[in-house]
Amino acid sequence: MVEINSTRLLDDLAALRQIGGHGTGVVREAFTATDLEGRRWLARRFAEAGLRPVWDPIGNLFGLPPTGRPLVLIGSHSDTQPEGGWLDGSYGVICGLEIARAAQEAGRPGIAVVSFADEEGTFEPLLGSRVWSGELPFSAILDRTDRNGRRLRDILAGMPELITAEQVSPQLFKAYIEAHIEQGLVLDDADEAIGVVETIVGMQHVEVAVIGDQNHAGTTPMNRRHDAVMGFVAFAHAVDEAFRSEAGPSTVWTFGRVTVSPNATSIVPGRTDAMLQIRDPEQARLNHLAARAVSIAENISAKGAVQIRTQVTAKLPPAPLDATLVSTLASAAERLSPGLWRRMVSGALHDAVPVSRIMPSAMLFVPSIAGRSHCFEEDTRPGDLVQGCTVLGAAVESLLLLSP
Ligand SMILES: [Zn+2]
Repeated sequence: MVEINSTRLLDDLAALRQIGGHGTGVVREAFTATDLEGRRWLARRFAEAGLRPVWDPIGNLFGLPPTGRPLVLIGSHSDTQPEGGWLDGSYGVICGLEIARAAQEAGRPGIAVVSFADEEGTFEPLLGSRVWSGELPFSAILDRTDRNGRRLRDILAGMPELITAEQVSPQLFKAYIEAHIEQGLVLDDADEAIGVVETIVGMQHVEVAVIGDQNHAGTTPMNRRHDAVMGFVAFAHAVDEAFRSEAGPSTVWTFGRVTVSPNATSIVPGRTDAMLQIRDPEQARLNHLAARAVSIAENISAKGAVQIRTQVTAKLPPAPLDATLVSTLASAAERLSPGLWRRMVSGALHDAVPVSRIMPSAMLFVPSIAGRSHCFEEDTRPGDLVQGCTVLGAAVESLLLLSP
């Protein structure tokens, strides 16, 4: 029986929280001294738990069981946003560590743990998991710099651990499971303890350029203007109205990176650029909504006040998680938290996205109090942290029993 030690779980979470601790939050950006201190602490904890700490060339840290073929890889990331919470990522890594320990104590050493490098995008979002899963070529990102101008190549060259870095073949693992805080309101609003993620949303970006006529703001009458900001506002409003009636239950859309040129009050603006991001768990709906935005732009352009150019750029397909793993998690949740769990969609991206393209993967969520995350207020009740790990441990135990 894989028996989770709740004190050990909460103590390890509290200890990791101290590294880069900032009030109630944590500042541990990828590849900074505090991030490396945190991951060196993890490496020691892995070793104390009888797991061999292995760093791969991009700086992912694995804890591999000494003997036998690892069966299930459990983990997440331990870096944070520039202002982060104490559980985002760390929860999944420490859950993996606790389940690996508990499984060994139960005589079933088939669990490996991972802390993926730079999930939060200091150099590139999901950097470590995307390189490990082969989606992002190692050589392609070495000359990236962070916002302080540090080059990834130099940072990796300065890490003594990486002198003995080893490739860790994904073939070692039959499955990847990531526990994570929900970072949203669904579970907390419903007073539920567990979310079993069925799909991680896909994403499309529509680049928008609204072209008007730059002119004097004092002398150009209102009925003779071709104002790129007013054109953008009309477009954004029409998109919002259309999407509200055509969206699915999990669709979200956001306008960002809005720039106005020239950005002055005495000039009728000649150009507005923006980016529309759409997220949804279904590819067909993503395609439909992106096409809808393009046709709205064409309709507005046809009226002649402004011209709106669009281009559908980033297309990230949704990541459906493995049906067998999902139902294993679901039955453990129903057994241990009857009536207090649900199947759900993840609107946030996680390391499980790239990993799910190369092996069966699953995710389990615990509630975030008031849905807060990527801020110092981020928190989860201790009982929920323990319950999530217990449910995941029970699910992993049935997987281990299935394939000895
Ligand atoms: Zn995270």
